Amino acid sequence: MAKKQSSPKEPSITVRTLRVRLKDKHAALLKHQSGEVNFVWNFLNETSMKVLEREGRFCTAYELDALTAGATKEGLSLHSQSVQAISAEYVTRRKQFKKRRLSWRSCKGARRSLGWIPFKASAIAYRDGQVRYQGVPLGLWDSYGLKDYKLGAGSFSEDARGRWYMNVTVEVQKTQRPKASVLNQTALGIDLGLKDLMAGSDGFKVEAQSFYRDLEPKLAVAQRAGKKERTKAIHAKISNRRKDFLHKASGHIAASYAAVFVGDVNAQALAKTRMAKSVLDSGWSTFRTMLRYKCDDAGVWFKQVKESYSTQECSTCGERSGPKGLEGLGVRQWTCVHCLTQHDRDVNAAINIRNRGLEWLQKEFSVGVEARAGEALANKDSGASSPMAAPGHGRPAEGIPRL
Ligand SMILES: [Zn+2]
Repeated sequence: MAKKQSSPKEPSITVRTLRVRLKDKHAALLKHQSGEVNFVWNFLNETSMKVLEREGRFCTAYELDALTAGATKEGLSLHSQSVQAISAEYVTRRKQFKKRRLSWRSCKGARRSLGWIPFKASAIAYRDGQVRYQGVPLGLWDSYGLKDYKLGAGSFSEDARGRWYMNVTVEVQKTQRPKASVLNQTALGIDLGLKDLMAGSDGFKVEAQSFYRDLEPKLAVAQRAGKKERTKAIHAKISNRRKDFLHKASGHIAASYAAVFVGDVNAQALAKTRMAKSVLDSGWSTFRTMLRYKCDDAGVWFKQVKESYSTQECSTCGERSGPKGLEGLGVRQWTCVHCLTQHDRDVNAAINIRNRGLEWLQKEFSVGVEARAGEALANKDSGASSPMAAPGHGRPAEGIPRL
């Protein structure tokens, strides 16, 4: 027991992309500018193709900058740094996709590109609930408390419904994870379920919400009437409500515990069964991903553990005395025949998950991989290799150059 325990070393700063909705009154201005972005993008595409044909080489971002340097003086209203951000993005993407040229960006027609305006950090400033871009104050719904962050580079982007967002990178200070010795009291195991979204090892339950089924009748009406916009709007509403709910739940957990362990229930496999609707509605994978990065930011240990037999195993004596098989699915309460402990089925499962997580953590600490544990956690368990890919704050799916 005299083993020395030390916290793994990890990078203390991480970069995230926050996405905030801009007020609709700015749509016309942004739309106009995104037209100019398309113009610049297509100019770069054409020029770099010509150079390729003539000289058999690709232009560098530096050369493209030189070519577009005069453009802002020639009547474009874009910030000159936005123009540079476009050429940087252009070169990055061309390399990434190993293409001779990228798709044209068009402002009109069925295949029109969703609006996208990149900017550099120096082009924006936040003040009093607004972000200033080119001297114009843009109103926004500040769901993150932007004043607490130093804003980096990013973009304005439009979604399919014509709404505009600001996607901005920020640096986030990570908190150091606690040592294993203090974890036993403050570790949480989570059993994910359908009737209850989750049961916690300390006995709490969060009821599942039926976001999809609640709005399903309205969706059906809209679909039958062939109302595309309305259908889109309802889908967006469902997804927003679900996300909001999962954000709150995961945020609360990450703020309350020192270690969080969750079962590896396979949502994809279950989605093929007759429980599909409930499974998709529960948003397990989204929830796990949110939990993972929120724990990561808050310095909370997070691990997904095997949940096999977690419902059958008695968390007190370890015997597999719990409800088994299909007929066991309906059993909510049971008593262990070996040690006579009374169990709530889901809470017992959550306790088992918690114990498995703590076992894993003890091993991580004791076999001398302290320094690597943090890294392994960050890389393996965060799933996403880049912090930018975290959902909710994810890389903008809309309004970014389509290839
Ligand atoms: Zn027992």
